[in-house]
Parts: sequence; C-alpha cells; structure tokens
Amino acid sequence: MRTKNISEHFLPSSSIGTKRKIVTISFGPKESGKKVYIQAGLHADEAPGYLVAGRLLELLEKADNSGDILGEIIVVPAANPVGLSQWNNDTVQGRFDNFDNINFNRQYPDFTEKIAEKIADRLGTEPLENIILIRECTAEILGSIKPEGETEFLKHLLLSLSHDADIVLDLHCDHQALVHVYMGTSLWPDGKELSAQIRAGATLLASDSGGTPFDEANSKLWWELANKFPNHPIPPACLAATVELRGSTDTNRQETEQDAQNLYYFLQRRGYIAGAAPELPELVADATPLAGVDYVTAATTGVLTFLKRVGDFVHKGEPIAELIHPMNKPGAGEKVILSGKTDGILFARCLDRFARPGKVVAKVAGKEALEGKGSNLLTS
Ligand SMILES: [Zn+2]
Repeated sequence: MRTKNISEHFLPSSSIGTKRKIVTISFGPKESGKKVYIQAGLHADEAPGYLVAGRLLELLEKADNSGDILGEIIVVPAANPVGLSQWNNDTVQGRFDNFDNINFNRQYPDFTEKIAEKIADRLGTEPLENIILIRECTAEILGSIKPEGETEFLKHLLLSLSHDADIVLDLHCDHQALVHVYMGTSLWPDGKELSAQIRAGATLLASDSGGTPFDEANSKLWWELANKFPNHPIPPACLAATVELRGSTDTNRQETEQDAQNLYYFLQRRGYIAGAAPELPELVADATPLAGVDYVTAATTGVLTFLKRVGDFVHKGEPIAELIHPMNKPGAGEKVILSGKTDGILFARCLDRFARPGKVVAKVAGKEALEGKGSNLLTS
C-alpha cells in the first residue's frame, strides 16, 4: 500500500494580494514510533538543498511504490517561501527576513524552561516514557502559541512539524565549501553515521551555538532537560543536524544525486527504509568543536585572492588569502595577507571577492576551542 501524502500549509498573508504556502510530503506509517523530518531552503537562497530534497523524494517515491518505507518520513522541499520571494538585483536574497533583518535560521524559541515546569513532577525512570512526556509537553506549548506575522508563523509551523522527530535534517549550503555538518555535542558519536555517509569534510559540535538555529531548537532542549533533571533518564532523543551541501553554486546533477542517495542510505541504515545500505564509508574527518572554528576575517577593504582552496589543511599563521587595495600605494604591489589562528581544514570560503573590515572570508575547523569566542559561535 502506498503511503505518500501531500499536504499544503498556508501562511497568513503579510501583504495585500499574497498568500504563500509550504508543501509537506510524508511517507510511511505514523504508528511506527520512528519519525524523520527533512527540510530544504530555510535559507531560501541556498540552492543545493532543494535539488537534494527533490532527488531524495524521487528515491522515496520508488521505495514507497515497493512498500519499503518503514518509518514516518516528512520532507519539506522548500521551507521558506517568504525568503524565496525576496528578489533583489536579479538574485534571491533569502537569508535574512527583509521585514526585520532577522536571519531565518536564528532565534527559534527555546522551550526548555517551560517544559521543565511541566515535567518536574511527572518524570519517571523509563527513558522512553520521559521522551513521550517531553514531546507531549512540547506539543502543548507549541499549541498554546498563536504566532503573529508570516515569518513567525512559518517558524512555528516548521517546528510544529519537526519537534517530535527522532531525526531532523536541515539542508543548507555555504558559499564555497566542503560538505559539512553542525550538530549538538551530545549527538556525537551517534551522528557519526550521518557525517560518514554524506562524506562530511567537517562536523562541528556545540552544546549551544548561541543563535538558536532550527536544528538546535529541536535538539538542545533534550540535553538541557537532562542537565536539569539528573536523577531521571532523558536521552538526546532528537538527532538534529544542519547539513551544509557544499557551496551555493554546487548544483550539478552528479553531486546532488549522490547526496540524496547518501541521505537515503542513512535513513535505510536507521531502519526507515527496507533493504541494506552499502557498507558505511570511513569518516572523512573527525568532529571538532564549533568553538574551534576560526573565522578568518578581513581587517581592511580590498579585492581578494585566495591562496588556499576548500579542503586544504592550513597551519596557524599560514597565508590563506591576500587583499589588494587598488588605491593604496598604486603600482607598489602592496598586499595584505590574511591568515588563520589555528591549524585545521579550510572548509568554507566566501563567494564574492570584495572585502571590508570584519567580513568573514574563510572558515577553518581547528581541533581546539579558540580563546575569546564569546557565546555566539555562528556567523550572522
Ligand atoms: Zn544556510
């Protein structure tokens, strides 16, 4: 029996004459006790995720036709129609909401305190019962909130669809980058299979990245509640990850098909789809702390030439890029060298070649936490 179901969810109109929607495609039995949620395009200007989600849907459709879907799988192939509408100078600019300049993947609600109040006298000794209780309380809290405005409604809707999933994958991309992954520290090494299967060149771990992105809104409450109630077993019940599918122009068919196939194998290995996945590839790079990521920034204006490629291992102090200012000492060949503060894999670079003070031009995944990082470990 086929299980595929398509639903439309309409957002409240934010301007006269518009009505936007998201579409969810679900497969598998709801009563399986297993749920995975996958979305693409929360940052609406990040193209690869749409293609990978689309190709994954093709694979899931085939599996569904064969009766092979064993757990509930929900895919939202275009999670942010608000961002998708933000065309400017002939490009989609879907990272920040034009309405308030807030990043679409930041400032999700943190329900930990509210849940803690509800469960304090009700937690037991069985991990699974505690998981069910916490999910029920999260649903109650979500149900009690009446979001105002289109983006607030969208964020609330996406979280309502995902909050009770065992696995949440939020598909993104960087500017020019290796495949890499962000997830909670408590989710490692459980998340190793994901990183290995998708050939992630870096996996960046944090208990609290400081920005409450979508993945953390689903996962962080579990270890925060576990810390609050140490006498009750509360497992990290949601393996949520932000999966960065290389760079924004990496939309070629071979790679996006392979990425979708890898996600399919991951789901197969986790028992969502019948059949045996091929042998798990070796992990490309061990996980490192998000606090160890060196954001190499420009200190001056200038035009950028990279001296290193994504995937290169760089050493502390080694030149990564050079800046030339066309008006400072013209003809003298003066260059400003940009280098990093750590040894590690250069896993992402910016796409444009103009620098200004404070602009992040490259990201290096170091093994040790860097000093002076502060509480916000993400870029804007
Ligand atoms: Zn993104």
